[in-house]
Amino acid sequence: MSLKWHHLLFPHRCLFCGSPVTASERICEMCMEALPIIGAPVCFFCGISKADCACREKRHFYDAIIAPFYYEGAVAKGIRLMKFAGRTENAEYFGEAISVCASHYYSEIAFDCVCFVPESEDVLKERGYNQSRLLAESVSRHLNVPCGELLKKLYTTKPQRTLSAAERQGNVLGVFETNPEEITAGKKILLIDDIKTTGATLDECAKSLLIAGADRVFCAVAAVSPMRASQNEETAEETLTAK
Ligand SMILES: [Zn+2]
Ligand SMILES: [Zn+2]
Repeated sequence: MSLKWHHLLFPHRCLFCGSPVTASERICEMCMEALPIIGAPVCFFCGISKADCACREKRHFYDAIIAPFYYEGAVAKGIRLMKFAGRTENAEYFGEAISVCASHYYSEIAFDCVCFVPESEDVLKERGYNQSRLLAESVSRHLNVPCGELLKKLYTTKPQRTLSAAERQGNVLGVFETNPEEITAGKKILLIDDIKTTGATLDECAKSLLIAGADRVFCAVAAVSPMRASQNEETAEETLTAK
């Protein structure tokens, strides 16, 4: 690859920590080594390694959820940059990682459509983009499945991260509706979001899609919060005694 003038002004930087990398690398060696990859076998009910899972196979409206990474360390930083600092190029990296994961775990499923967790008009105006849509568009290209805007978010809700597990479900209840300009009925859908914590948002989206006649809904996200005592009161005791 030839060295262009803008490479001297803007040398390549790690997507996660910003340290210099060669033109062919997207993330630095340190971040690469510390990638919090979710190891197989995974629990499809909660999306994390079975070894770490304490979800007791809690059922959701979606059929399964998978993710390449835990939401921690460099990956958490990379996602925050994508979401809050306009680093939309990170969506391509995470989109590719989701695609690899989906091709592996969902290899038997012939998806009709990729869709994404929508944002409200207000948030879109303020942020200028929906990172989940960028991820879904990347996944759509990699898997060669069309991407559709199947869902709309009716109003702005409090950020889920500011709420307790118990409050999260109520916060998103009834906030999504299907887009009348798209066909949802009869489709096998791959629903994309950036992060999954309790799964309340994905569940509410899946419910709306199923009400509109979707055949099945499978989820894939860039990262899943590792199950921790503070994030899941129900399993706190179990998690603590298991460690
Ligand atoms: Zn790095
Ligand atoms: Zn589980």
